[in-house]
Amino acid sequence: MSELEDLFQSLDFYRSKDKKGQAKNIDRFRTRPDKHTQRKAWNDHFERDISRKYDSFTYTCVMTEDRTDYDTISCWQSSPITELNQDNAILTKEIMEVEGHLIARASENIVYGSFEADWKKLDVEKKKEIVLEGLYRGACDAPRDNSRISCPEMTIKGLIGDSEYNLINLLKRLIEHDPIGNGHVQEIYLFRHPYIDHEFRYTEKAPEKLKAFRYRSTLLRNYYIVFTLYGILAAFLGHEPLKLTPAQFSSESSLDAEERKRSHRKCREDYKNSPRKVDESQCMEEGARKVYACYNCKSMTKDRTSLKRCGRCKLVWYCTPECQAKDWNDHKKYCCHKKFDPKLLTPTSEGRPDQFIGCPEAVPGFIRTPALHRQIWYLSKADSQERDYHINTKYDHTKSILVNPSTKLEFLVARRRAMASGSVSAIFRMYEIIELDKDEYIKVGVPMDLVRRQFEVEYRISMTPSTKQSAEPWTPPTAREIVEERAYLLKRLRSVNSSDIDLLVPPLPVLR
Ligand SMILES: [Zn+2]
Ligand SMILES: [Zn+2]
Repeated sequence: MSELEDLFQSLDFYRSKDKKGQAKNIDRFRTRPDKHTQRKAWNDHFERDISRKYDSFTYTCVMTEDRTDYDTISCWQSSPITELNQDNAILTKEIMEVEGHLIARASENIVYGSFEADWKKLDVEKKKEIVLEGLYRGACDAPRDNSRISCPEMTIKGLIGDSEYNLINLLKRLIEHDPIGNGHVQEIYLFRHPYIDHEFRYTEKAPEKLKAFRYRSTLLRNYYIVFTLYGILAAFLGHEPLKLTPAQFSSESSLDAEERKRSHRKCREDYKNSPRKVDESQCMEEGARKVYACYNCKSMTKDRTSLKRCGRCKLVWYCTPECQAKDWNDHKKYCCHKKFDPKLLTPTSEGRPDQFIGCPEAVPGFIRTPALHRQIWYLSKADSQERDYHINTKYDHTKSILVNPSTKLEFLVARRRAMASGSVSAIFRMYEIIELDKDEYIKVGVPMDLVRRQFEVEYRISMTPSTKQSAEPWTPPTAREIVEERAYLLKRLRSVNSSDIDLLVPPLPVLR
């Protein structure tokens, strides 16, 4: 369905009368209620639009079978293909980033946790409330709320119902795309829906720009879906909203105020003649996004005037030459490229930061679980360099453990062996070392049954005496392993300028 047909269709609604001869559905032409202040009305307004658009979809499908309307669509003609490519690259990168996080979280809670059963048991009203929260969070994070209009799956009824597009099924589909769950996806996953396949379709003969524009619509739709699913899961788990993208915008931001205002005004004008009126907050947010800060580090702290553009395409901004250099491997693939090719937009996997210093490689044949990948990811964070392990205390909340210096190096050797090969005796050794100070850990809210559960989920074993008996016995660390672990520990602490190096790093054992 083209923008024009969409307009006609909404005009029909505008013209339709109720029993008393009054024009009905006029609210379609009214501004959408503000999502921040009237969340429920905002959602109802959207859901009405979605059902109007897709309930009559079979009819419009027949009408537009022949794509002769390419020339009548003006919105895609105004942007050059290079700009669309750049825009699509940003969207691809950000969607992939969130997909990685979402898969890790979802698989942990669905594959290893009891999320599916807990969700089913939940009271309908509570489900509605959580889903509404997620839909709202999705709209706050997505570059434009109106992408939701192309998401027939994103209604409260649909998400809590039993259809193949409900919350659990959508999450499972995403997990299947990348079951490793290491927080990163190799390829972008795009949710499909038959209405959308039809709506955004084009023939091979279609102009490159139109293809890129259609792909952009697909990406925007997926952006909203992925952020909403993340939002629902996070709301269920009692988590704060995600803060990953530069779309969040505060008035204290030091971005150039004039440029922001211009961009905001432009967005308002774009929507003025559109059949879909948007609320003011959306214009503000979209405006803020267009004055994107450094494309590599997403720094919002610098004034736009201090950023430099790519000299070739003049479309991307960087805060430093280092940032430009870091992004060049990705950017060079589509910089000034005048064809539509979504493969060029996939970011390279270099420089992934989530392997802590000294993290072992998995031995061939040992497949790490999403939960173990998550442990590694946690231990890799800057504020985790002084910690030795993370234990889930409730859904998606962790507490970190600091092992006593007298047993620390042995613990770290056991951790290394367990992470490398899933060695059962190493897992039990970690458990026993933690158990030595169990009273301390109980005081901070980490009882031993949580530790046991943590290892069971991460290593897919059951921590019973018989498992331990049937495993190889624990062989104490060699002198070389101890020296290595100590060196890694020092490196980790120095990487964050830890002030507790003397306290945290045990001395090497005395040579005899
Ligand atoms: Zn930067
Ligand atoms: Zn460029």
